[in-house]
Parts: sequence; C-alpha cells; structure tokens
Amino acid sequence: MAKIQAIRGMNDILPEQTPVWQFVEDTVRRVLSQYGYQEIRMPVVEQTDLFKRSIGEVTDIVEKEMYTFEDRNGDSLTLRPEGTAGCVRAAEEHGLLFNQTRRLWYTGPMFRHERPQKGRYRQFHQIGVECFGMAGPDIDAELLILTARLWRELGLGEHTRLEINSIGTSAARREYREALVAYLSDYRDQLDDDSQRRLSSNPLRILDSKNPATQQLLEDAPSLDDYLDQESVEHFRTLRALLDAAGVAYTVNPRLVRGLDYYGKTVFEWITDSLGAQGTVCAGGRYDGLVEQLGGKPTFAVGFALGLERLILLLETLDLVPSSANGNVDVYVTAMGDAAVAPALALGETLRSALPEARIMVHCGGGSFKSQMKKADRSGARYAVILGENELANGTAALKPLRSDEPQQEIAQAELAGALENLLAR
Ligand code: ATP
Ligand code: MG
Repeated sequence: MAKIQAIRGMNDILPEQTPVWQFVEDTVRRVLSQYGYQEIRMPVVEQTDLFKRSIGEVTDIVEKEMYTFEDRNGDSLTLRPEGTAGCVRAAEEHGLLFNQTRRLWYTGPMFRHERPQKGRYRQFHQIGVECFGMAGPDIDAELLILTARLWRELGLGEHTRLEINSIGTSAARREYREALVAYLSDYRDQLDDDSQRRLSSNPLRILDSKNPATQQLLEDAPSLDDYLDQESVEHFRTLRALLDAAGVAYTVNPRLVRGLDYYGKTVFEWITDSLGAQGTVCAGGRYDGLVEQLGGKPTFAVGFALGLERLILLLETLDLVPSSANGNVDVYVTAMGDAAVAPALALGETLRSALPEARIMVHCGGGSFKSQMKKADRSGARYAVILGENELANGTAALKPLRSDEPQQEIAQAELAGALENLLAR
C-alpha cells in the first residue's frame, strides 16, 4: 500500500532541527519577558468572518489563501492565517482592553494556501506581538527597539535592516488611492496582471509589486507622504526622532505598505538581503481601527509578527546557529551487563539532581561494550560514564572523555558529579 505523506507546504520539524527552533523561541521568549510582555494563547481555528472583517475582503489572504471549511454544524471556520485578528477577538472577549494598556505576545502555526517555495510554506510559524491602549509613537519605538535587541541576541544584528513608513489615516489613504488610480490607469496595459487586478480592488498593494516595470512606473506616481494628515506626519516625525535617540538605524521607504487592511500610520518591515525574494523576517505596524471594526471600543494598537521559518533559514544560511543549539547530550552512562542496569539508572538520577543543567542519557537496551560505546559517541556526549562489573564491585565509575584525548579515569561514584561539574564547565 502506498504510504501517506505530509501535506504539501506543511513541514515536519525533525529532531535534528528542533534545537535551533528552541534556541530562537527561547531567545524571543527571554527578550519579550525582559520588556514585561505577557503571553496569550488562542485557538488555531476561528470563525471565517473574523478574518474577512479584519484582514479585509479584497486582500490576497482572504481572497485566495485561507483554509476555510464547514464544520459539522455547518459553521464556516478558518485555520488562522495570522494571529492579530484572533488576539484582538480574545482580548476583547475577555475584557483585556477596556481602559487598560496591554503588551501581549503569542506563538504558533499559521496557515495560508500559497505556492510553497523557500521561505514560504502553507503551515508556517509566527511569533506575534500586540500592544493595546497606547497612542504612541513611544510604543511604536519600543517595539522596534525590542526587535533590534532580538536580532542582536540571535546574532543577526548585522544581517537585518529596518524599513519604516507612515500610511496615514484611512481618509488620507482614500484620497491618495484616487490619485494613484488616476495616475496608473493611464498605464494600465503596462502593469503586470496582479497589479491590473489590484487597480480596482486594492491599488495601494501595487506599491508593493516586485515587478521591475511596475516599479519603474511608480517612480513618477503620486507619493503617499504628500497625502498624509498632519497627525500622522507628526506621529512619524516623533517616531523617527525616538529611533534616532535609541540608535536604531532605519530607512524610510515611502512605498512600504502592508497586505492587510487594518494597518494605519506606522508600518515597518525588518528585511534581510540573504534570503532572496522571501526577505521579510518581521513585519508590522499600527492598527488603531481594528478593535472598533471588530465591535469593540476604539483602542490604540500596534504590533508585529515575525516568521520563524525565515529566521531559522537565515541562521542556517549564514552559518550562525550557535554550537550550543546542537541537541547533544552531555553525558552518556553505559551499563555493562544486567547487574549494572539498576545502578546505572540510579547514577543517572544522582547526576541529574546534582547537575540540573546537564543533559544525562542512560543507556537502555543492553548490548556489548562496543555497541554501547558507539551509541555514546553518536549521542554527541562529551563524556561517557562506564559502569561494569569491576566498577560496581569497587563503587567507582570509569569516566571517558569522548571529544578529546584526555585519558580515561577511574573515579569514586560519590565524586563523579563534582568531577563532571568541573569538566562540563570548561
Ligand atoms: P510576504 O510579503 O512575504 O508574503 P506577508 O506580508 O504576507 O509576507 P505578514 O502577513 O506580514 O507577511 O506576516 C509576517 C511574517 O510572517 C512575514 O514577514 C514572514 O516572515 C512570515 N510569513 C508570512 N507568510 C509566510 C509563509 N507563507 N511562509 C513562511 N513565512 C511566512
Ligand atoms: Mg504574503
């Protein structure tokens, strides 16, 4: 019978890969906690209308990328394509927003039916950060300062750059949209297919086109910043001053827009030049209108999402995965002969209690000296502890370095933890 395989664009993350995932996730968690952000966990499935009403009916995501299905009650449900909508829904539903400020984060899989390619999958993982109740631009700046710290902690400080823009209020965008459509309509037949379609549905997204001919046309197009309202101009000016003061480098990209309808004022992307077309590792902005749009009271909001697959791909591409993220154990305890099994298990417990940070693996499954030593080597352990008949009789263990040519030593079991503590600290 043919074997069943995974769904295209949905990846298994294998044991060799999880250590680098854990390194990234742990680092993000630590940095977010340094800033006092709280974790929130939402379901992976929401009502389809939540995404239609928030992301926007005529966005790529809602038009062609959502995994939507009917459940057994006939309700239309959707696998979340992003986290902001669900986060707002949950925060509003549980009264986390009214008259309060919140700094929240979440992580988990997101689902979009896109063409799978490097850095683009159908199930992918984001860490999302959402802040509520702060008009900014101080909180916009904090988010960017936080992400800059995160890149440094991950060793990616030199490999990411920040682009920012202001897309103003919806009234300003409406006015600009008319001017842009008027301009581009004269060149309609020179636009790529996607942009022609967007001309009537979502013209601002044309600014985002990767097509060189379209980009050429945009050189002389009206510019969004000429249409910005005074408040957005002021907000953006202060944000830039705060970033300057904090030493966070950026470029202003006047054509930067986002593919989701709920953004306004500040938008930003962290980009790497080392991953080709899928170079955006983190993207976000302000979405002051969304909470009200979903039925809540008007609430200031700003956030971002970072794509874990792209960050990990970047670390691997640049060979920047730290050697600590290798998934190896530190010590492998062997048990030679049946009589050694119980003492080996007990010794493992003693070592784990004494060295809580160390990864201790006790051999299971029997086998010859040679095969056990082979497994010890494959485990990546730096030291093997050998328990055989002689050692058991003497209350000792043989301590064998596996990654250096230091000699093996015979050591009293009671002194083993202390010796290993010193050795592993080297
Ligand atoms: P892109 O322009 O690359 O399609 P986007 O604007 O659709 O990105 P957002 O919805 O803002 O992306 O999501 C934030 C981040 O999530 C992206 O910057 C990227 O790192 C990641 N991301 C988005 N879609 C995918 C995907 N299909 N596969 C892997 N990562 C993704
Ligand atoms: Mg996309």
